[in-house]
Amino acid sequence: MEKAKNIILSRKVVRSVLWLAGILVVVAIVLAITFKPRTNKDVVPVVPDNTVVVSVASGDTLSKILSAQGIGGTDINKIADVLKTKAGITGLRADRDKIEFMREKGPDSAVSKITVVPGPWRRVELTCDDGGIWNCNAIDIERDTRLVYRQGEILDGDSFYLAGMRADIPAGILAEVYDLLAFEMDFERDVRAGQKFSVVYEENYSDNVKIDNGAVVAVSFDALRGNVKMYRFRKADKSIGYYDPNGNGAIKSLKRTPINNAKVTSSFSTRRKHPVLGFTRAHKGVDFRAPTGTPIPSAGAGRVVARGYNRGHGNFIKIRHNGSFETLYAHMSKFAKNVKVGTTVKQGQIIGYSGSTGLSTGPHLHYEIIKDGKHVNPMTVKLPAINNLDAVNKQKFLEYRETLDKAIEELVKNPKSFIQM
Ligand SMILES: [Zn+2]
Repeated sequence: MEKAKNIILSRKVVRSVLWLAGILVVVAIVLAITFKPRTNKDVVPVVPDNTVVVSVASGDTLSKILSAQGIGGTDINKIADVLKTKAGITGLRADRDKIEFMREKGPDSAVSKITVVPGPWRRVELTCDDGGIWNCNAIDIERDTRLVYRQGEILDGDSFYLAGMRADIPAGILAEVYDLLAFEMDFERDVRAGQKFSVVYEENYSDNVKIDNGAVVAVSFDALRGNVKMYRFRKADKSIGYYDPNGNGAIKSLKRTPINNAKVTSSFSTRRKHPVLGFTRAHKGVDFRAPTGTPIPSAGAGRVVARGYNRGHGNFIKIRHNGSFETLYAHMSKFAKNVKVGTTVKQGQIIGYSGSTGLSTGPHLHYEIIKDGKHVNPMTVKLPAINNLDAVNKQKFLEYRETLDKAIEELVKNPKSFIQM
């Protein structure tokens, strides 16, 4: 009897344990479905057995790749010609382009179809007819563009990059956001723990599979000096720019930090002890940490007015920008090829490489902004905007901004959702 009771008891226990386990499984499944983390699904192309995919590497040429697949010289010339005339493809880009070779009649047969893939949104198919003529069919893949919203907060001891990564903002988008904000903010001084920021950007899908990220559409950062907001806007002439909420151009003629995300090691000051000379003298620029060989982009569009060497600056370049501004870059290890006195440069164009030439204690970029012949603090000087809006475009921008703000409000309420464009 005692034994029977024990069995009944243990059966009861087993039953309750099973019940509990069952409930736990159900709860786990529900949790997994509800809180499923968003993952960026990359496209895994399904390559048929009869197809070989070649990724273009540095040093590859079309003829090298085609002949490696057993295609003869006459056909190579015909293919190069049809690619150029029918698809506008004149060369291959290493680490980007791919070429697929299909052999319908088995792995040892001749290539029956070649597909050049110059990126995720285009396929150029080449087939040879019985007369030996290569035909070309370029297919544009339709993009399904979605706006997504990410929000982050700076924590103690954080950098904007760390906080951005934590907020699930892709590195490429983060770099663009940094680039934009750097026109308005000094990341050394304007960033504090507790500050919040948000980004709206595009994700491109094809058949519900995410392919890549698109443009940064809106940025907001609660900086020390107040909220910095920027919106991407396409003008009537199709040119694209970023604007503040009032429609003023957010992209300035000069960048305060020419090298993206470089740390300030010495600020602009009218008096400081010189690290090499020892005595106190003004520091007429800002020093950015930059390992030897770091590419130095021009802070703005302009014309090179000096390129040379002096004892203090070492190898330096001076650029004159619109009217009243000049910039100077010092201690370079070398200059960029083809950048000489008189060369016209674009904003962001590489003009040289960082180093430690001249009076310098280690590799860095010394950067100066000169306004009307007088040195000014690159971090605080008021810089003119480029690409401002005329009255008609400004009106359009304000209407667009209102619509976008409403869309963003929806995304804020439901951060996991997206807006289809
Ligand atoms: Zn310096």
